[in-house]
Amino acid sequence: MNKVKENELKMWPSIVHARCPRCRVGKIYENPMYSLTGQKMLKKCPHCGMIYEREPGYFYAAMYVSYAFIVAELVSLSVGTSVLTGSTNPWLYTAVLLSVVAVLSPFNLRYSRVLLLHWFTPGLHYRPELSKHLPHQQ
Ligand SMILES: [Zn+2]
Repeated sequence: MNKVKENELKMWPSIVHARCPRCRVGKIYENPMYSLTGQKMLKKCPHCGMIYEREPGYFYAAMYVSYAFIVAELVSLSVGTSVLTGSTNPWLYTAVLLSVVAVLSPFNLRYSRVLLLHWFTPGLHYRPELSKHLPHQQ
């Protein structure tokens, strides 16, 4: 009954690989997450042409998603550090939290926007018919 149709692309791989929420084929970012030149987001989907920034300032809303990410990371790291070391030295926690959060910041930036597009945008849904080869492409 809940069989995935033959031409439909699955949601999770498209989120992990940062693909367009509408067609799940086109890339959202033009370069890798840990690139020396920073992350460059494409203006529109190279496959279906959807414009990613739905309105001016649209990606400010990704800060809320990013906030949830960083709270989850800080709580997990604090508990993990406490369980593993048993230390009460605040400098240990400061060093661990700041260094790991700095390393994870490109991840937070990328996936807060990807999740905003995939899950938290009203009226934006996957359209399986757009996953197919489009007629204007060769
Ligand atoms: Zn697309």
